[in-house]
Amino acid sequence: MKTARAVRVGTTGANSRFVSGTSNTRSSVAASNILQQFTQSPPPPRKSLAAPLAKLPFSSVLRSLLVLSVSSSPILLKPCIYTLSHLAHPRSAFWDVSKNPLLNFLVKHTIYKQFNAGENKVEVQDSIRNIKQLGCRGVLLGYAREVLVGENQDAARDEKAAMAEIQMWFDGTMRTVDMAQQGDFVALKFTGMGTDALRLLQKEADPTEFMDSSILKVCDLAISRGVRLLVDAEEQAVQPGYLRSTPATLARHLETARQEGYTLGVKLVRGAYMKTEPRHLIWAKKEDTDRCYDEVVEALLTRKYNSMLQAPTKDTPAELPSLDVIIATHNRDSVRKAHAIRMEQAVRGEDYDVDLSYAQLQGMADEVSCELLEGFENAENSVGASPVAAPNVFKLLTWGSVQECMGFLLRRAIENTEAVGRTKDSQVAMFAELKRRCRNAFARSN
Ligand SMILES: Cc1cc2nc3c(=O)[nH]c(=O)nc-3n(C[C@H](O)[C@H](O)[C@H](O)COP(=O)(O)OP(=O)(O)OC[C@H]3O[C@@H](n4cnc5c(N)ncnc54)[C@H](O)[C@@H]3O)c2cc1C
Repeated sequence: MKTARAVRVGTTGANSRFVSGTSNTRSSVAASNILQQFTQSPPPPRKSLAAPLAKLPFSSVLRSLLVLSVSSSPILLKPCIYTLSHLAHPRSAFWDVSKNPLLNFLVKHTIYKQFNAGENKVEVQDSIRNIKQLGCRGVLLGYAREVLVGENQDAARDEKAAMAEIQMWFDGTMRTVDMAQQGDFVALKFTGMGTDALRLLQKEADPTEFMDSSILKVCDLAISRGVRLLVDAEEQAVQPGYLRSTPATLARHLETARQEGYTLGVKLVRGAYMKTEPRHLIWAKKEDTDRCYDEVVEALLTRKYNSMLQAPTKDTPAELPSLDVIIATHNRDSVRKAHAIRMEQAVRGEDYDVDLSYAQLQGMADEVSCELLEGFENAENSVGASPVAAPNVFKLLTWGSVQECMGFLLRRAIENTEAVGRTKDSQVAMFAELKRRCRNAFARSN
C-alpha cells in the first residue's frame, strides 16, 4: 500500500514520514561542553550534566522505578505478561478494564500512565505539555486502536463491517491530528483500518477507494495544522522491505528521492519483533544490528555513502540527496554516537543541513532523552564555541481508552523480554535519581 511520497526505511524494521518544512533553530549553547559529554569516557564531572533525570516530576520517577523494576526482572516480567494478556483479551467481566472500574483505576494509574498519553483530548494535551516542559521539541502521537489478524471475522465477510472499521480508523486518526500541535508528528498505523487493510497490505496491493480518500483527508488536515505524518513500519508481513535489507532499501529510496527532487524523510529503527519476524531476515547477531544501525546513521548525517550504506550504482553522485532523519532508538550508544557526529560537525563549523531528530517511546529510556537535552536549556553554559542547535528530542505518545491501549501495553511488555539489559540500565538510572533526591532532601534538612 503506498501513499504519495511516503518512503519507509529501517534497520531491522522501519518507518517513513511525509517531509515538510522543519526548523533548525540554533541556540547559543556551546558545542564543546556537550561534545565532551558525548565523546569522552567517563563524562566530565560537571554538575549540570550529572543529573539528566532531575527534570522529571517526583511521581514520575517513582512510577518509572516501579514499572522498570518489574520489567527488568525476568522473574517478574513473566507473570506481568500473563496478566496483561488476560487484560488485553478478557474472557470475563472481571478481567475487562472497560467493565471493572477498580481494575481500570489500577491499570490507568500505573502501567497505562507510564506508557500512554490519555483517553481524551484534555488528558493527551496535558501529557504533550508535560513532555514539552522537559525540553523535548514535541511528540509523535499515535492512536492505540489496532486490528490483529483474524480478530474481526465479521469484517472479513461483510463489506459494511469492513467499512465501519475504516471509518473508525479515520475518526480516531483525525482526532489524533487534531490533538497534535504544530511541528508534532502523528503516527499512521494502516493495520488500524481493519481486516481488509491487513489483507491488502499483506498482498502489497493498493488501498480501496474509501481507504485512499480517508488517508488523503488525514493528510489534508495534517498539512493545514502543520502536523507531520509518519507511517508505522509495523512488521515485515505488512510492510516488507526492511530488516537486514535496510541499507539496500534505503539506498534505493535515496536514489529515487534524488531523481524526483524531493527531501527524503527517514525514521530509522532497529525493529521490534525479534520473536515473530522471520529470523533469516534479521542480522545474525545483536552486534551486527548495532553496527548496521550506527553506520547507516553516520552515512545519513554526513551525507556520504559508506561501506554499509552503499551507492546503488557507480554513477550515483557521492553526496546523498536532501534528507531529514529521525533516530528512533532507546540505545544510548547509538544516540551518543549520532549526537557526537552532530557536535563534531558544529565544532568544525560545518553547515549541516540534515534535519535530525531523536525519538524514544513515552516511559522508556527517559535517561537517554534527558541526557540529550542536558546542557542545552541554559545559554549561560556556553563557553564560546560555535553555536549549535539544541537536539530535537521527541517522545512517542500513544493515546486511547485503557481498554484500547491494552494490546499496545502487552506488546511493550513482550518487546521488553528482548531488552531486559537495557531496561535494567534505565532502572539503575532511575534509582540513582531517587537516591540523589533523597540525599539532597536530607542535606537540606540538616
Ligand atoms: C519512536 C519509535 C518508533 C518505532 N517504530 C517502530 C516500528 O514501526 N516498527 C518496528 O519494528 N520498530 C519500531 N521501533 C523500534 C522498537 O520499538 C524498539 O525501539 C526496538 O526494537 C529496540 O531497539 P533499540 O534501538 O531501542 O535498542 P536495543 O535494545 O539496543 O536493540 C534491540 C534490538 O536489537 C535487535 N536485536 C536484539 N537481539 C538481536 C540478535 N540476537 N540478533 C540480531 N538483532 C538483535 C532487535 O531489533 C531488537 O529489537 C520504534 C522505536 C521508536 C523509539
